[in-house]
Amino acid sequence: MDSALRLVNPQREAERRWVHLAVARLGQEAARSADTHLLKLEFPGFRGIGFYFKDESAHPSGSLKHRLARSLFLYALCNGRLRDGQSVVDASSGSTAISEAWFARLLGLPFVAVMPACTAPGKIQGVQALGGECELVDDPAQVYARAAAHAARGACHLDQFGLAERATDWRGNNNIAESIVGQMALEAEPEPTWIVCGAGTGGTSATIGRYLRYRRLATQLCVAEPAGGAFARGWRSRDAGARAGQPTLIEGIGRPQVEPGFLFDVVDRVVEVPDSASIAAAWLLEELLGRRYGGSSGTNLVACLQLAATMRARGERGSIVSLLCDRGERYAQTLFDPAWLAARGIDLAPWDAALRASLRDGRPPVPAGAG
Ligand SMILES: *Cc1c(COP(=O)(O)O)cnc(C)c1O
Repeated sequence: MDSALRLVNPQREAERRWVHLAVARLGQEAARSADTHLLKLEFPGFRGIGFYFKDESAHPSGSLKHRLARSLFLYALCNGRLRDGQSVVDASSGSTAISEAWFARLLGLPFVAVMPACTAPGKIQGVQALGGECELVDDPAQVYARAAAHAARGACHLDQFGLAERATDWRGNNNIAESIVGQMALEAEPEPTWIVCGAGTGGTSATIGRYLRYRRLATQLCVAEPAGGAFARGWRSRDAGARAGQPTLIEGIGRPQVEPGFLFDVVDRVVEVPDSASIAAAWLLEELLGRRYGGSSGTNLVACLQLAATMRARGERGSIVSLLCDRGERYAQTLFDPAWLAARGIDLAPWDAALRASLRDGRPPVPAGAG
Protein backbone atom coordinates (compact mmCIF):
# COMPACT_ATOMS: atom_id res chain seq x y z
CA MET A 1 0.00 0.00 0.00
CA ASP A 2 2.81 2.42 0.90
CA SER A 3 5.26 1.26 -1.76
CA ALA A 4 4.89 4.59 -3.56
CA LEU A 5 5.84 6.58 -0.47
CA ARG A 6 9.30 8.06 -1.10
CA LEU A 7 10.20 10.94 1.15
CA VAL A 8 13.72 12.29 1.27
CA ASN A 9 13.99 12.22 5.04
CA PRO A 10 13.84 8.61 6.39
CA GLN A 11 12.40 9.70 9.71
CA ARG A 12 9.63 11.69 8.07
CA GLU A 13 8.97 8.74 5.81
CA ALA A 14 8.57 6.41 8.80
CA GLU A 15 6.27 8.91 10.49
CA ARG A 16 4.20 9.27 7.35
CA ARG A 17 3.96 5.50 6.97
CA TRP A 18 2.49 5.26 10.44
CA VAL A 19 -0.04 8.00 9.62
CA HIS A 20 -1.13 6.03 6.56
CA LEU A 21 -1.48 2.91 8.69
CA ALA A 22 -3.51 4.77 11.33
CA VAL A 23 -5.82 6.33 8.73
CA ALA A 24 -6.31 2.88 7.20
CA ARG A 25 -7.22 1.48 10.64
CA LEU A 26 -9.84 4.18 11.12
CA GLY A 27 -11.22 3.38 7.68
CA GLN A 28 -11.44 -0.30 8.55
CA GLU A 29 -13.23 0.51 11.78
CA ALA A 30 -15.75 2.69 9.93
CA ALA A 31 -16.35 -0.08 7.40
CA ARG A 32 -16.94 -2.61 10.18
CA SER A 33 -19.47 -0.35 11.92
CA ALA A 34 -23.13 -0.34 10.93
CA ASP A 35 -25.33 2.74 10.95
CA THR A 36 -27.40 3.38 14.09
CA HIS A 37 -31.13 2.62 14.14
CA LEU A 38 -33.82 5.24 13.78
CA LEU A 39 -36.55 4.06 16.16
CA LYS A 40 -40.12 5.20 15.51
CA LEU A 41 -42.61 5.98 18.28
CA GLU A 42 -46.24 7.08 18.07
CA PHE A 43 -48.21 8.57 20.95
CA PRO A 44 -52.01 8.62 21.30
CA GLY A 45 -52.06 12.36 22.08
CA PHE A 46 -50.13 13.25 18.92
CA ARG A 47 -51.93 11.65 15.99
CA GLY A 48 -50.39 12.65 12.67
CA ILE A 49 -46.99 13.37 14.26
CA GLY A 50 -44.28 10.72 13.95
CA PHE A 51 -41.48 10.66 16.53
CA TYR A 52 -38.13 9.19 15.53
CA PHE A 53 -35.18 8.58 17.85
CA LYS A 54 -31.77 7.83 16.46
CA ASP A 55 -30.09 5.32 18.75
CA GLU A 56 -26.56 6.64 19.07
CA SER A 57 -25.96 4.41 22.08
CA ALA A 58 -25.57 1.55 19.60
CA HIS A 59 -22.09 2.69 18.53
CA PRO A 60 -19.30 0.34 19.71
CA SER A 61 -18.23 2.88 22.35
CA GLY A 62 -21.78 3.56 23.48
CA SER A 63 -22.62 7.14 22.50
CA LEU A 64 -22.81 9.73 19.76
CA LYS A 65 -19.22 10.65 20.72
CA HIS A 66 -18.07 7.63 18.74
CA ARG A 67 -18.60 9.74 15.59
CA LEU A 68 -16.79 12.71 17.10
CA ALA A 69 -13.84 10.68 18.40
CA ARG A 70 -13.34 9.05 15.00
CA SER A 71 -13.40 12.51 13.38
CA LEU A 72 -11.02 14.05 15.94
CA PHE A 73 -8.43 11.30 15.49
CA LEU A 74 -8.71 11.55 11.72
CA TYR A 75 -8.43 15.33 11.90
CA ALA A 76 -5.32 15.16 14.10
CA LEU A 77 -3.72 12.57 11.80
CA CYS A 78 -4.50 14.42 8.59
CA ASN A 79 -3.20 17.66 10.08
CA GLY A 80 0.09 15.96 10.93
CA ARG A 81 -0.46 16.51 14.66
CA LEU A 82 -0.45 12.87 15.78
CA ARG A 83 2.56 10.54 15.63
CA ASP A 84 3.29 6.94 16.48
CA GLY A 85 3.67 6.44 20.24
CA GLN A 86 2.49 9.93 21.12
CA SER A 87 0.11 10.14 24.03
CA VAL A 88 -3.31 11.63 23.47
CA VAL A 89 -5.25 13.85 25.89
CA ASP A 90 -8.64 15.52 26.05
CA ALA A 91 -10.92 17.28 28.51
CA SER A 92 -14.24 15.47 28.79
CA SER A 93 -17.29 14.98 30.93
CA GLY A 94 -17.02 11.31 30.11
CA SER A 95 -18.72 10.12 26.93
CA THR A 96 -16.08 11.61 24.67
CA ALA A 97 -13.34 10.19 26.88
CA ILE A 98 -14.77 6.68 26.54
CA SER A 99 -14.95 6.97 22.75
CA GLU A 100 -11.49 8.52 22.53
CA ALA A 101 -10.05 5.79 24.76
CA TRP A 102 -11.65 3.28 22.41
CA PHE A 103 -9.96 4.78 19.34
CA ALA A 104 -6.65 5.33 21.15
CA ARG A 105 -6.61 1.61 21.93
CA LEU A 106 -7.40 0.85 18.28
CA LEU A 107 -4.33 2.87 17.26
CA GLY A 108 -2.14 1.61 20.11
CA LEU A 109 -1.69 5.03 21.73
CA PRO A 110 -1.71 5.98 25.44
CA PHE A 111 -4.71 8.13 26.40
CA VAL A 112 -5.38 10.51 29.31
CA ALA A 113 -8.86 11.92 30.02
CA VAL A 114 -9.07 15.03 32.17
CA MET A 115 -12.53 14.95 33.75
CA PRO A 116 -14.48 16.57 36.58
CA ALA A 117 -14.32 14.48 39.78
CA CYS A 118 -18.15 14.43 39.84
CA THR A 119 -18.33 12.45 36.57
CA ALA A 120 -20.52 9.34 36.82
CA PRO A 121 -18.39 6.41 38.16
CA GLY A 122 -19.68 4.22 35.33
CA LYS A 123 -17.97 6.49 32.82
CA ILE A 124 -14.67 6.58 34.71
CA GLN A 125 -14.70 2.77 34.74
CA GLY A 126 -15.52 2.83 31.04
CA VAL A 127 -12.37 4.80 30.24
CA GLN A 128 -10.19 2.65 32.49
CA ALA A 129 -11.58 -0.57 31.03
CA LEU A 130 -10.33 0.61 27.62
CA GLY A 131 -6.83 1.22 28.98
CA GLY A 132 -7.24 4.98 29.37
CA GLU A 133 -6.08 6.98 32.37
CA CYS A 134 -8.47 9.36 34.16
CA GLU A 135 -7.18 12.54 35.72
CA LEU A 136 -9.93 13.90 37.95
CA VAL A 137 -10.13 17.59 38.81
CA ASP A 138 -12.33 19.08 41.53
CA ASP A 139 -13.16 22.26 39.67
CA PRO A 140 -14.80 21.43 36.30
CA ALA A 141 -13.56 24.74 34.88
CA GLN A 142 -9.99 23.46 35.33
CA VAL A 143 -10.24 20.66 32.78
CA TYR A 144 -9.17 22.82 29.84
CA ALA A 145 -6.01 24.11 31.56
CA ARG A 146 -5.04 20.59 32.63
CA ALA A 147 -5.47 19.22 29.11
CA ALA A 148 -3.40 22.12 27.77
CA ALA A 149 -0.65 21.33 30.29
CA HIS A 150 -0.42 17.77 28.94
CA ALA A 151 -0.24 19.16 25.40
CA ALA A 152 2.59 21.49 26.44
CA ARG A 153 4.51 18.38 27.55
CA GLY A 154 4.08 16.80 24.10
CA ALA A 155 0.72 15.06 24.12
CA CYS A 156 -1.65 15.45 21.20
CA HIS A 157 -4.66 17.43 22.44
CA LEU A 158 -7.70 16.13 20.54
CA ASP A 159 -9.55 19.24 21.74
CA GLN A 160 -13.17 18.19 21.37
CA PHE A 161 -14.48 21.58 22.47
CA GLY A 162 -12.22 23.55 20.15
CA LEU A 163 -12.50 21.30 17.10
CA ALA A 164 -15.83 19.40 17.18
CA GLU A 165 -17.48 21.79 14.79
CA ARG A 166 -14.74 21.58 12.13
CA ALA A 167 -13.45 18.02 12.53
CA THR A 168 -16.78 16.64 11.29
CA ASP A 169 -17.42 16.75 7.59
CA TRP A 170 -20.74 18.63 7.52
CA ARG A 171 -21.47 18.07 3.82
CA GLY A 172 -21.70 14.29 4.10
CA ASN A 173 -19.45 11.31 4.69
CA ASN A 174 -22.23 9.63 6.59
CA ASN A 175 -22.33 12.33 9.25
CA ILE A 176 -25.29 12.12 11.62
CA ALA A 177 -27.43 14.53 9.58
CA GLU A 178 -26.90 12.73 6.30
CA SER A 179 -27.71 9.47 8.02
CA ILE A 180 -30.97 10.84 9.48
CA VAL A 181 -32.12 12.34 6.18
CA GLY A 182 -31.39 9.06 4.37
CA GLN A 183 -33.18 6.96 6.97
CA MET A 184 -36.28 9.18 6.78
CA ALA A 185 -36.58 8.83 2.99
CA LEU A 186 -39.37 6.23 2.96
CA GLU A 187 -41.40 7.69 5.85
CA ALA A 188 -44.82 9.33 5.49
CA GLU A 189 -43.31 12.69 6.45
CA PRO A 190 -39.74 12.31 5.18
CA GLU A 191 -38.76 15.94 5.70
CA PRO A 192 -38.86 16.40 9.48
CA THR A 193 -40.60 19.46 10.86
CA TRP A 194 -38.02 19.50 13.63
CA ILE A 195 -34.73 17.86 14.50
CA VAL A 196 -33.97 18.09 18.23
CA CYS A 197 -30.52 17.64 19.77
CA GLY A 198 -28.49 18.83 22.73
CA ALA A 199 -25.36 20.98 22.76
CA GLY A 200 -22.22 19.81 24.54
CA THR A 201 -19.40 20.59 22.18
CA GLY A 202 -22.01 21.96 19.77
CA GLY A 203 -20.68 19.65 17.07
CA THR A 204 -23.92 17.75 16.51
CA SER A 205 -26.09 20.87 16.22
CA ALA A 206 -23.53 22.56 13.95
CA THR A 207 -23.40 19.56 11.63
CA ILE A 208 -27.18 19.15 11.48
CA GLY A 209 -27.86 22.88 11.03
CA ARG A 210 -25.35 23.22 8.22
CA TYR A 211 -26.50 20.05 6.48
CA LEU A 212 -30.16 21.15 6.50
CA ARG A 213 -29.19 24.28 4.56
CA TYR A 214 -26.84 22.41 2.27
CA ARG A 215 -29.63 19.99 1.34
CA ARG A 216 -32.16 22.85 1.13
CA LEU A 217 -34.56 21.30 3.62
CA ALA A 218 -37.25 23.23 5.49
CA THR A 219 -36.54 21.27 8.69
CA GLN A 220 -35.92 23.45 11.73
CA LEU A 221 -33.31 22.68 14.37
CA CYS A 222 -34.09 22.84 18.08
CA VAL A 223 -31.47 22.58 20.82
CA ALA A 224 -32.76 20.93 23.99
CA GLU A 225 -30.88 22.53 26.87
CA PRO A 226 -30.86 22.09 30.65
CA ALA A 227 -32.60 25.11 32.21
CA GLY A 228 -30.22 28.06 32.51
CA GLY A 229 -27.46 26.52 30.37
CA ALA A 230 -24.94 28.71 28.56
CA PHE A 231 -26.14 27.71 25.09
CA ALA A 232 -29.67 28.88 25.89
CA ARG A 233 -28.52 32.14 27.44
CA GLY A 234 -26.01 32.89 24.71
CA TRP A 235 -28.35 31.95 21.85
CA ARG A 236 -31.01 34.46 22.84
CA SER A 237 -28.67 37.46 22.73
CA ARG A 238 -26.01 35.94 20.42
CA ASP A 239 -23.62 36.42 23.33
CA ALA A 240 -20.45 34.32 23.13
CA GLY A 241 -19.58 35.42 26.68
CA ALA A 242 -22.74 33.99 28.27
CA ARG A 243 -22.40 31.73 31.30
CA ALA A 244 -24.79 29.17 32.73
CA GLY A 245 -27.07 30.49 35.46
CA GLN A 246 -27.03 27.15 37.27
CA PRO A 247 -25.22 23.81 37.08
CA THR A 248 -26.98 20.74 35.71
CA LEU A 249 -27.05 17.05 36.59
CA ILE A 250 -27.37 16.14 32.92
CA GLU A 251 -23.96 15.07 31.63
CA GLY A 252 -22.83 15.82 28.09
CA ILE A 253 -24.94 18.97 27.67
CA GLY A 254 -25.68 22.17 29.58
CA ARG A 255 -22.20 23.61 29.39
CA PRO A 256 -21.13 26.26 31.94
CA GLN A 257 -19.83 28.51 29.13
CA VAL A 258 -20.35 29.11 25.42
CA GLU A 259 -18.04 26.64 23.65
CA PRO A 260 -16.17 27.48 20.43
CA GLY A 261 -18.36 25.01 18.52
CA PHE A 262 -21.69 26.65 19.41
CA LEU A 263 -23.05 27.96 16.10
CA PHE A 264 -26.05 29.99 17.24
CA ASP A 265 -27.08 31.02 13.73
CA VAL A 266 -28.05 27.54 12.52
CA VAL A 267 -30.35 26.91 15.50
CA ASP A 268 -34.02 27.93 15.14
CA ARG A 269 -35.16 27.37 18.69
CA VAL A 270 -33.90 26.46 22.15
CA VAL A 271 -36.12 24.64 24.64
CA GLU A 272 -34.95 24.73 28.25
CA VAL A 273 -35.74 21.65 30.31
CA PRO A 274 -35.48 21.34 34.12
CA ASP A 275 -33.23 18.48 35.27
CA SER A 276 -36.11 16.66 37.01
CA ALA A 277 -38.02 16.61 33.73
CA SER A 278 -35.01 15.25 31.83
CA ILE A 279 -34.46 12.51 34.39
CA ALA A 280 -38.15 11.55 34.54
CA ALA A 281 -38.10 11.39 30.73
CA ALA A 282 -35.00 9.17 30.77
CA TRP A 283 -36.87 6.76 33.06
CA LEU A 284 -39.89 6.92 30.75
CA LEU A 285 -37.72 6.15 27.71
CA GLU A 286 -36.76 2.87 29.33
CA GLU A 287 -40.44 1.98 29.50
CA LEU A 288 -41.11 3.12 25.92
CA LEU A 289 -38.07 1.51 24.30
CA GLY A 290 -37.13 -1.32 26.65
CA ARG A 291 -33.65 0.03 27.27
CA ARG A 292 -31.95 2.64 29.36
CA TYR A 293 -30.62 5.83 27.87
CA GLY A 294 -28.84 8.75 29.54
CA GLY A 295 -30.20 12.03 30.86
CA SER A 296 -29.64 14.06 27.70
CA SER A 297 -31.87 11.64 25.78
CA GLY A 298 -34.56 12.52 28.32
CA THR A 299 -33.94 16.23 27.75
CA ASN A 300 -34.49 15.61 24.04
CA LEU A 301 -37.76 13.76 24.65
CA VAL A 302 -39.17 16.61 26.75
CA ALA A 303 -38.28 19.17 24.05
CA CYS A 304 -39.87 16.93 21.38
CA LEU A 305 -43.14 16.87 23.33
CA GLN A 306 -43.02 20.63 23.75
CA LEU A 307 -42.62 21.14 20.00
CA ALA A 308 -45.21 18.49 19.17
CA ALA A 309 -47.76 20.15 21.46
CA THR A 310 -47.30 23.40 19.52
CA MET A 311 -47.69 21.57 16.20
CA ARG A 312 -50.81 19.84 17.45
CA ALA A 313 -52.34 23.09 18.69
CA ARG A 314 -51.87 24.50 15.19
CA GLY A 315 -53.32 21.38 13.57
CA GLU A 316 -50.01 20.48 11.88
CA ARG A 317 -48.92 16.99 10.89
CA GLY A 318 -45.30 16.05 10.46
CA SER A 319 -42.34 14.30 11.96
CA ILE A 320 -39.88 15.10 14.73
CA VAL A 321 -36.46 13.46 14.85
CA SER A 322 -34.24 13.36 17.91
CA LEU A 323 -31.33 11.43 19.39
CA LEU A 324 -30.74 8.82 22.06
CA CYS A 325 -27.28 10.07 22.93
CA ASP A 326 -25.75 7.43 25.19
CA ARG A 327 -26.34 4.24 27.16
CA GLY A 328 -28.23 4.54 30.41
CA GLU A 329 -26.14 1.89 32.15
CA ARG A 330 -23.52 4.59 32.68
CA TYR A 331 -25.86 6.31 35.13
CA ALA A 332 -26.88 3.28 37.23
CA GLN A 333 -25.27 4.87 40.30
CA THR A 334 -26.60 8.36 39.60
CA LEU A 335 -29.74 9.20 37.57
CA PHE A 336 -31.17 5.68 37.88
CA ASP A 337 -30.46 5.35 41.61
CA PRO A 338 -33.45 6.48 43.72
CA ALA A 339 -31.20 7.13 46.75
CA TRP A 340 -28.90 9.37 44.68
CA LEU A 341 -31.93 11.33 43.44
CA ALA A 342 -33.43 11.61 46.92
CA ALA A 343 -30.13 12.92 48.30
CA ARG A 344 -30.40 15.74 45.75
CA GLY A 345 -34.01 16.48 46.55
CA ILE A 346 -35.25 15.28 43.17
CA ASP A 347 -38.80 13.98 43.03
CA LEU A 348 -39.60 12.47 39.65
CA ALA A 349 -43.31 11.86 40.32
CA PRO A 350 -44.72 15.24 39.21
CA TRP A 351 -42.77 15.19 35.95
CA ASP A 352 -43.50 11.54 35.34
CA ALA A 353 -47.21 12.31 35.60
CA ALA A 354 -46.85 15.38 33.36
CA LEU A 355 -44.99 13.44 30.67
CA ARG A 356 -47.53 10.61 30.66
CA ALA A 357 -50.38 13.12 30.45
CA SER A 358 -48.66 14.80 27.50
CA LEU A 359 -48.29 11.52 25.60
CA ARG A 360 -51.96 10.80 26.26
CA ASP A 361 -53.51 14.23 25.63
CA GLY A 362 -51.08 15.98 23.31
CA ARG A 363 -50.62 18.92 25.66
CA PRO A 364 -47.24 20.38 26.64
CA PRO A 365 -45.60 18.52 29.53
CA VAL A 366 -46.14 20.70 32.61
CA PRO A 367 -46.36 19.31 36.16
CA ALA A 368 -49.54 20.01 38.12
CA GLY A 369 -49.31 23.24 40.04
CA ALA A 370 -46.46 24.64 37.89
CA GLY A 371 -46.89 27.76 35.77
C1 LIG B 1 -21.68 15.26 23.91
C2 LIG B 1 -23.01 14.82 24.30
C3 LIG B 1 -24.15 15.47 23.82
C4 LIG B 1 -24.08 16.70 22.94
O1 LIG B 1 -23.45 16.49 21.68
P1 LIG B 1 -22.44 17.57 21.06
O2 LIG B 1 -22.30 17.14 19.65
O3 LIG B 1 -21.15 17.48 21.80
O4 LIG B 1 -23.03 18.93 21.18
C5 LIG B 1 -25.37 14.99 24.24
N1 LIG B 1 -25.48 13.93 25.06
C6 LIG B 1 -24.39 13.26 25.52
C7 LIG B 1 -24.57 12.11 26.44
C8 LIG B 1 -23.13 13.69 25.15
O5 LIG B 1 -22.07 13.03 25.62
